[in-house]
Amino acid sequence: MMSERQAWMSNIIFALVNIPVVWYLFATDEAIRFTITFSLVSAYSAVFLHVVSKQYSDLQKMAITDKLTGLYNRTMLKDFLEHAIHQANRTNTAHTLIIMDVDHFKNINDELGHDTGDHVLIQLGEFLKNSLRESDKAFRIGGEEFLVLLYNTDGANSIDIAEKIRKGIENLSLIPDRSVTVSIGVAGLSSVKDWKQWMKTCDMKLYEAKNKGRNIVVV
Ligand code: GH3
Ligand code: MG
Ligand code: MG
Repeated sequence: MMSERQAWMSNIIFALVNIPVVWYLFATDEAIRFTITFSLVSAYSAVFLHVVSKQYSDLQKMAITDKLTGLYNRTMLKDFLEHAIHQANRTNTAHTLIIMDVDHFKNINDELGHDTGDHVLIQLGEFLKNSLRESDKAFRIGGEEFLVLLYNTDGANSIDIAEKIRKGIENLSLIPDRSVTVSIGVAGLSSVKDWKQWMKTCDMKLYEAKNKGRNIVVV
């Protein structure tokens, strides 16, 4: 019923009040029995609560994490985007969305196998984690589709970041004798009202990048 900290505090208060009372009112052997029993029950409860709390936070983390890449999955996407929109409206800070999709990924799977495809996705996840700032958020939102939410980043900076990601991936050498490339759509927050519209605008830019021949950034 309580957080671990609250449970510790109430248990300590209970002990500080009751143990002296028991020693004052009861015979010594009964007071010893009470003190030992109380201490053991407290210790067992503390261990149990600690294990349950840890399992709970592990489960919470698992629910929002993509198993393959360790990035966020879609679960928290709506919340993060809505929070960014709210923050932008309140403080006038620029936020930018990047959606990137691996080019001809099906060919990689078909020609080199699903495991190689998975290896590429894992490496792309690592690359994103290492390329972004602590404040930015990276998601795997579909098979070979990734989304990055750049906090406090305006138009010019976001283009630089997207271009750096595109070039960085092209130069990664994820598969011998073959370059893995991505197409990227970028959308700022200025003209959108809600998170779905923001995603849609960004998706359209990605679609444009694919149509223009892939391995490019469209803003
Ligand atoms: P485009 O350049 O137009 O994006 O072409 P594409 O081949 O990348 O796109 P398409 O949507 O045709 O293929 C995506 C492929 O991604 C098909 C699917 O089998 C594969 N895929 C989806 N999830 C996973 C996964 O978790 N692991 C692997 N290895 N492949 C996946
Ligand atoms: Mg693709
Ligand atoms: Mg795709």
